[in-house]
Amino acid sequence: MTRPEADLFADAIGRLDPAAELAGLDSEVLEKLRHPKAVLQVWIPVRMDDGSLRMFEGYRVRYDDTRGPAKGGIRYHPDVHLSEVKALGFWMACKCAVVGIPFGGAKGGVVVNPKELSKLELERLSRGFVQQMADFIGPETDVPAPDVYTNPMIMGWMMDEYSVIKRQRTPAVITGKPIELGGSLGRDDATGRGAYSCIKELERRRGWQPRSIRVAVQGFGNAGQHVAALLHADGYRIVAVSDSKGGIHRAEGFDVPSLVRTKNESRQLRAVYCEGSVCEMVEADVITNAELLELDVDLLVPAALECQITGENAARVQAPVVVEIANGPTTSEADAVLRKKGTLVVPDILANAGGVTVSYFEWVQNRAGYYWTLDDVHERLGTIMRREFDAVHDLMDQHGCEMRTAAYTHALLRIGAAIQARGTRAYFRPDRDAVRR
Ligand code: NAD
Repeated sequence: MTRPEADLFADAIGRLDPAAELAGLDSEVLEKLRHPKAVLQVWIPVRMDDGSLRMFEGYRVRYDDTRGPAKGGIRYHPDVHLSEVKALGFWMACKCAVVGIPFGGAKGGVVVNPKELSKLELERLSRGFVQQMADFIGPETDVPAPDVYTNPMIMGWMMDEYSVIKRQRTPAVITGKPIELGGSLGRDDATGRGAYSCIKELERRRGWQPRSIRVAVQGFGNAGQHVAALLHADGYRIVAVSDSKGGIHRAEGFDVPSLVRTKNESRQLRAVYCEGSVCEMVEADVITNAELLELDVDLLVPAALECQITGENAARVQAPVVVEIANGPTTSEADAVLRKKGTLVVPDILANAGGVTVSYFEWVQNRAGYYWTLDDVHERLGTIMRREFDAVHDLMDQHGCEMRTAAYTHALLRIGAAIQARGTRAYFRPDRDAVRR
């Protein structure tokens, strides 16, 4: 489901107002946050395997760097557009602030269907993107990472290209790299694990019995697979999963490791149960992505793309709890409907912040030249996610607001404090401020 270009950014920014009010934000701070700091649009020439030249459009938006270098992924997708990249950059700034890591927000994207490119074409495109971006990104200015349809190998190429341009090995310019090129242990499942930590906190607060919790996961990619596997290992019933081609549903639940194995081997989502090397089909219903969202489940995890729960289908969403792993899967019209129904939405800027948190760990390790164990990563990630989830939940209880508003309030308090620490009108012209108010 795609939306008009201008909408996504306007929709994202619209969420600022109620949170800014709760955070008591200075109007200047709010005004600053309504605009990205810088936008770079490029066209990348790529020599294709057949000898022809193709131009690819790409963007990088440095949304905010008040609290540290801007941070955010690079997406390869045919629907990438500037409004989306700006919205994603804005969300990154809020996300880093929610979990209290010293980064601002950024995002990048290339308008491309990577499935139509050969591996060599993909490498040329990725290196070409960095050639255009080399003066815009950097370990102390703007640090990219993977996003939809980009992966560790692409990050490795990009780091490599940047290091060649700067004539200096610079692993901290990009995160999500292969371990061998300075990646962090635990980055691959960090987003899923972060969302899992949030769900475990909900379990503790609500006294859930995992076996009685039916979960539907939309998007069985990196993040969706990991959260499903972690929940399944704890006894949760994963009753539905989907990918871009559609989904499968089984009331008794799936054996997630079997689904992951066959999906990654055959690139197809199949309802199977595997023992050793033998996989058998199990009975399951074939459903559409739209149907998955409306299933009678206890927990819905959108982990695919934005704008999946909209004003049109929100009333039919039956799950009482939605944990957003995708960025912006719920529109603000949908939010209003879900609020009325009493649905708890754990917002993207909190629920999917595990990825950027471990990206931060990777950047720290690259700069220190000292690498942590997997246990270190898991422990530090779990500590941050639990602490910040609880802080947001407490703010929600304190203000009687939605969890999304509480998360933005939590983020804005941090960003606002950093902007205010440099002085606002109230500091420079307190007399005038008093008159204006
Ligand atoms: P991925 O590319 O590994 O997986 C995406 C999955 O969504 C795939 O299974 C794909 O088939 C499916 N999909 C694509 N279009 C779909 C559609 N229209 N309907 C249903 N499914 C569809 O990506 P990922 O890394 O797992 O990221 C998933 C979401 O989580 C994205 O919105 C991304 O921005 C967000 N996210 C990811 C990370 C991370 O570290 N991976 C961090 C923060 C947020």
